[in-house]
Amino acid sequence: MTKQELLDKALSCNRCGTCRGVTQDAVPNADFSTQCPSGMTLFGEYEPAGLMYIARGIAQGDLQWNKDLAKVLYSCTLCGYCDDLCSRGYRHTPAVTILEELRKIVPQELKPRSLQKAAAAAEVPKQHKLAVLKNYGVIDVSGSGTADTILFADTTLIANSSKLSEIGFLIKTSGRKLGCFIDEPLPPVEQALINGGQQDVLERCVARIDRRLKQKGIKKVVCYNPESLSVLKRFSRSGVPFVSITQLYAEMLKKKSPKKLKLSAVTYQDPCHLGRYAQEYSAPRQVIAGLGLTLKEMWRSRNNSLCCGAGGGMLAVNPQLAKRYAANRWEEVSATGAKTLITACPYCNANFRQGKPKDSKIMDLTSLMAQAYGYTGKEAGK
Ligand code: SF4
Ligand code: SF4
Repeated sequence: MTKQELLDKALSCNRCGTCRGVTQDAVPNADFSTQCPSGMTLFGEYEPAGLMYIARGIAQGDLQWNKDLAKVLYSCTLCGYCDDLCSRGYRHTPAVTILEELRKIVPQELKPRSLQKAAAAAEVPKQHKLAVLKNYGVIDVSGSGTADTILFADTTLIANSSKLSEIGFLIKTSGRKLGCFIDEPLPPVEQALINGGQQDVLERCVARIDRRLKQKGIKKVVCYNPESLSVLKRFSRSGVPFVSITQLYAEMLKKKSPKKLKLSAVTYQDPCHLGRYAQEYSAPRQVIAGLGLTLKEMWRSRNNSLCCGAGGGMLAVNPQLAKRYAANRWEEVSATGAKTLITACPYCNANFRQGKPKDSKIMDLTSLMAQAYGYTGKEAGK
């Protein structure tokens, strides 16, 4: 993007402030009406409009990058709420595109090192545990095996044998034939590359993924991590549909009854990359209903959901700030009266563990599904 293009985009923001949050009459408690994690926790310049003005200043050459500006930039979780809310009005400032561009052009020395590591991990997948999936009959499509639908192994899954075992168990129990590039994994791309301003690496890896999907005639890709789902949906040119694993679970529940879980009411966090970015709001709710659980929605839910605070690489860059962001959401969880918070994103799960009230618990939707179908953990490694 040229400086002029960045300026044109940034100029579309008139600082109306709408993207601060939902109108106070839309929520019963005004404490829960603000939406931008950085703006509501910090102040002025950290709000979306402040960031748009920083983009304007950088594009015009009136502002020079320094540590303070970088701090503002990396306090944003790239949750996408401002962009979404702005698009519902009479104008649309493409805030996410602008924020991603700023992360690309910020001088290298101001980029957090923790975010730069993502490129190496995506280009050459680290040691992996994907062979666990073979124990559950998942077909390795790296070699001569074929399958129409495959599971995508992202950075959070590729070396996590317990989660792979839960997913393998569910695939086997569902009776579905699924494949995965096991012996020669695909680049485990996800949002971390954008957080670190490395969109060029992301596009290169996705082009490699596209070629391999085409070679093997893959018709559908199932993603566990919403951050992989969202970048693959955005950047793949393969024409192959990418879907959330929650869709697989929702289909499974229609065909095969689970056992009853001993849980009182639950609430659900819409992960930004599953909801806002990938527009998947219904499948996780169908799973919760299919498991026979009572869902108590938070006031800010679906496209008005509040980010857990982990996005934008916050857990790696500034875990203390991520914890403060999570505290905002925990207040709203408590207000529902539900003692169990269900997530469908490994990063939401990790961040919500910070500052969790003693009497509350967090459950990953995949673990909940596995439990409901009788997974005990002893199956792992068999
Ligand atoms: S990004 Fe859109 S909604 Fe937010 S202050 Fe600017 S114009 Fe208003
Ligand atoms: S993307 Fe989210 S955190 Fe960043 S400025 Fe917009 S609303 Fe705030």
